[in-house]
Amino acid sequence: MKNKARKLLIAGNWKMNLNSAEGAELAETIVSQVGTQMEVAVCICPTFTSLEAVAQKVVNSNIALGAQNMHFESSGAYTGEISAEMLRHLFANFVILGHSERREYFGETDAIVNKKTLAALAASLKPIVCIGETLEERESGQLNTVIETQLKGALAGVEPKHADQLVIAYEPVWAIGTGKTATPDDAEAVHASIRKLLTGLLGGEAAEKIRILYGGSMKPENAETLLSQENIDGGLIGGASLKAHSFTSIVESAIKLSS
Ligand code: PEP
Repeated sequence: MKNKARKLLIAGNWKMNLNSAEGAELAETIVSQVGTQMEVAVCICPTFTSLEAVAQKVVNSNIALGAQNMHFESSGAYTGEISAEMLRHLFANFVILGHSERREYFGETDAIVNKKTLAALAASLKPIVCIGETLEERESGQLNTVIETQLKGALAGVEPKHADQLVIAYEPVWAIGTGKTATPDDAEAVHASIRKLLTGLLGGEAAEKIRILYGGSMKPENAETLLSQENIDGGLIGGASLKAHSFTSIVESAIKLSS
């Protein structure tokens, strides 16, 4: 049985996949399978171009809508960018920030992730702030330093009152899209150290409320053991979120642990 204070959150990161018709179809199937249950929070994060079509499918369900990125300014001359207010206008509740793919391919730094996090919180979006080490960093003994630097960098200026809104995703870069998963014990150890860092930054009461998701090749076969760990409060799912049956089966595992 999981910690009732933190409802498990299963979030699907569709990345740059599915056009709006395909996204609407997948959302409709997910809603039909897990759209009325209340035990677990579920969120799907399509591409920007599918947000509106997916919003129409999830509107009367318990499935929340999320985006995969946003700019930190609210409007202006930022060609190609989207603001937090624009996402709210499309009824998005969550936004993934600082995903390792954005850090690697688009040069996002901790300072940029921090500006985005503060802008998302100010616009009443729930940021899912991603942190995680590369294989090289882990193997050279830098795991703890990397996690601490990324977490502190992303959360500068965040206050304890934001605890209910804030979500952290621990995503070891070497486990994303590779089929390699951190063992439940290894993942739990990092999650516990993140909770400790959050306690130092925001106080114990806030740290106990903040959900820390695990991401990195989570799938139906490994979800239950990962999600049963004390400090793993949900999953950020990439590849397995693109098929309704694998995504909803992860949600079912979370429901089983929550009821
Ligand atoms: C992700 O990109 O956030 C992710 C966890 O991907 P995957 O599940 O495919 O490893």
